[in-house]
Amino acid sequence: MSLASLLGLAIAAVVLVLLVVYYAWVYRRNSALGTPGVISRVRLTCPKCGGTFDLDYVPGAAVTAFRLGRSRYMACPLCHKWSTFDMTRNRLPVEPRGAR
Ligand SMILES: [Zn+2]
Repeated sequence: MSLASLLGLAIAAVVLVLLVVYYAWVYRRNSALGTPGVISRVRLTCPKCGGTFDLDYVPGAAVTAFRLGRSRYMACPLCHKWSTFDMTRNRLPVEPRGAR
């Protein structure tokens, strides 16, 4: 095995460990908040049409939205207009789920 491929493996291993640690942290935080796994749920209100909807999302895995710090620029699923949504202020309160 060449030095370059060893280096590549080492970098891949470090990235993998960082991802695992990050998602373990997200998982613990979400468990405390009452949502399952790495999925976070927020209730958002659209500033354009005033409609509310629940959004499940995986932190760090935004593909359909642009992250702007703690808010997110994305299309409203109700009126399909693009707006900025605050992802932290609207987090749903802890809801007890069924027996685990
Ligand atoms: Zn809307």
